[in-house]
Amino acid sequence: MRILVTGGAGFLGSNLCERLLKDGHEVVALDNLFTGRKLNIAHLMGHANFEFVRHDVIDPFKYEVDQIYNLACPASPPHYQYNPIKTIKTSVMGAINCLGLAKRTKARVFQASTSEVYGDPQIHPQPESYWGHVNPIGKRSCYDEGKRCAETLFFDYHRENKVDIRVIRIFNTYGPRMHEADGRVVSNFIVQALRGQDITIYGDGSQTRSFCYVDDLIEGFVRFMAQTETVGPMNCGNPGEFTMRELAELTLKLVGGKSKIVHQPLPADDPKQRRPDITLAQKVLGGWEPKISLEEGLGRTIAYFKTRV
Ligand code: NAD
Ligand code: UDP
Repeated sequence: MRILVTGGAGFLGSNLCERLLKDGHEVVALDNLFTGRKLNIAHLMGHANFEFVRHDVIDPFKYEVDQIYNLACPASPPHYQYNPIKTIKTSVMGAINCLGLAKRTKARVFQASTSEVYGDPQIHPQPESYWGHVNPIGKRSCYDEGKRCAETLFFDYHRENKVDIRVIRIFNTYGPRMHEADGRVVSNFIVQALRGQDITIYGDGSQTRSFCYVDDLIEGFVRFMAQTETVGPMNCGNPGEFTMRELAELTLKLVGGKSKIVHQPLPADDPKQRRPDITLAQKVLGGWEPKISLEEGLGRTIAYFKTRV
């Protein structure tokens, strides 16, 4: 198949492009390089089936494709809050442009949605049926509401125009090719530990997240696109749940060194807990479940960051 990956030079996008090429597909990676970088796809550049296009998803684009994966959007809180209006435009206009393309080409189209659609959840763990608890006017809203609106657009195009959609809600995922300055917690802690700097826990560190290693997630993406049982929304992630204090301590144990744990203020609207209910994914993805433990995944990610910092 010929497959378009928006956000293809980012952390998840570059790992996905590599996987799709391995599976024998032609891949077009479209990216404006806001948080992604050519370094992530440098090893794919010479591949006969790979093409990189520098373009912004806000502006329309035309390709003849069989599938579209829409991943373009900054994902780390400091990056999506850097220019919040642009973040909303990226989610909303990017979705409209991908859906318009899918409508014309009849391509199956995948939306990288997020656990952030559940906001600061009052139901735990979060099933897909939960509508969420999102502040519509806060600092995180540009991302949360942009992604929620994108889901709305996907389902309206599906109902109105029979567009063949797949909507996945990704929970915190980490691994090689995250940017050293990404700002998300796993890369921050590893980079700080490797540099011997203080490990910055925001708040008291009792808030939880569930961390999925990138390879497990990408396997879920590919299986989700291949199945026809559900269009989603479908949670994808690792249900193992950790406090930020536990993550800091495990990172320090694995990296070694002399970093101290320090506390900084908790950002506004920071969700207190998050864990996916993956019952649906386990049912429809042919026996899929995350295989890589946090300790093993952190080890692989630390090995990557050792080559970067
Ligand atoms: P990332 O920041 O590494 O990747 C995002 C990519 O999109 C970058 O390459 C960036 O340059 C590109 N991009 C941003 N705005 C663009 C625009 N207007 N036009 C074209 N390209 C643009 O982050 P990631 O972790 O790889 O996230 C990929 C997708 O997955 C995002 O949509 C994100 O919301 C979603 N997601 C990721 C996670 C996670 O834990 N990694 C969790 C939930 C959802
Ligand atoms: N966090 C932290 N120290 C950091 C970066 C993040 O304690 O250096 C916390 C953050 O406040 C949140 C959790 O780690 O509670 C996950 O943050 P991240 O930005 O990775 O993702 P998200 O909040 O979007 O899940």
